[in-house]
Amino acid sequence: MDDLPPLREVIAAHDLAPKKAMGQNFLLDLNLTARIARQAGSLADHDVLEIGPGPGGLTRGLLAEGARRVVAVEKDSRCLPALAQIAERYPGRLDVLNADALDLDTARHLSAPVRVAANLPYNVGTELLVRWLTPAAWPPFWDSLTLMFQKEVAQRIVATPGSKAYGRLAILAQWRTQARIVMELPPQAFTPPPKVHSAVVHLTALPAPRFPADPKTLEKVVAKAFNQRRKMLRAALRGLRPDIEDRLIAAGIAPTERAEQVDVERFCALARALDT
Ligand code: SAM
Repeated sequence: MDDLPPLREVIAAHDLAPKKAMGQNFLLDLNLTARIARQAGSLADHDVLEIGPGPGGLTRGLLAEGARRVVAVEKDSRCLPALAQIAERYPGRLDVLNADALDLDTARHLSAPVRVAANLPYNVGTELLVRWLTPAAWPPFWDSLTLMFQKEVAQRIVATPGSKAYGRLAILAQWRTQARIVMELPPQAFTPPPKVHSAVVHLTALPAPRFPADPKTLEKVVAKAFNQRRKMLRAALRGLRPDIEDRLIAAGIAPTERAEQVDVERFCALARALDT
């Protein structure tokens, strides 16, 4: 792929023993990281935001696949020398920011069009995904997100109404993007292997949300509705408004329905009914 050393050597040379506290499960097979990079779509005309490059397996995949420029945000400063070697191999195409991605305004480091690619610890990935899906204005700063998750989380993102996995992530993702699982990976693909299987989800930003709704209201009502997913909505949403039953009916939802029966369109109608 490139003339840089294999990742096992990089890890040994820079003393990058994976740290559990940083959620470090590294991908060391460069054929695999190139395959993940290809799932992101055309890269030659895009800046790519990579969160959590670690020793740089996916970073090398993205650059070898022709990314115009990669901006990589890594919290663990131990990884910086290994990433600096990659930057030297691809002059002017890799910028590394040593920061916590949750604290950084990444958009201002990038030029449009932008794609996002990441293999992140589970809780950071979910938190960032929700932030990327819920900006006040749409379209967002990115065209697509290509993200590794625990398989169970990936299934929650693409779940349909009526299924157990259907909830907040499905609604927020499917409201404003086209989301699909594009790859599944067994634990042995990682070093050290995690306990669970993983999957890559590719989300493409729609030019406009499928249905009008205020993102804050939608997020709030969906969170509350699924917090007590087995309850009827009139009970789960009690306290949100005194006339919650009327607002449910105005949105075409029977007050006796449960959250998992309500599709994205009707949740958006409910968010609008709450805002009137
Ligand atoms: N991308 C590499 C790969 O695929 O081999 C590393 C993946 S490892 C699962 C997650 C990476 O995210 C680690 O390098 C870790 O240090 C980094 N990381 C964890 N939390 C982070 C955060 N809040 N901001 C930025 N990087 C983070």
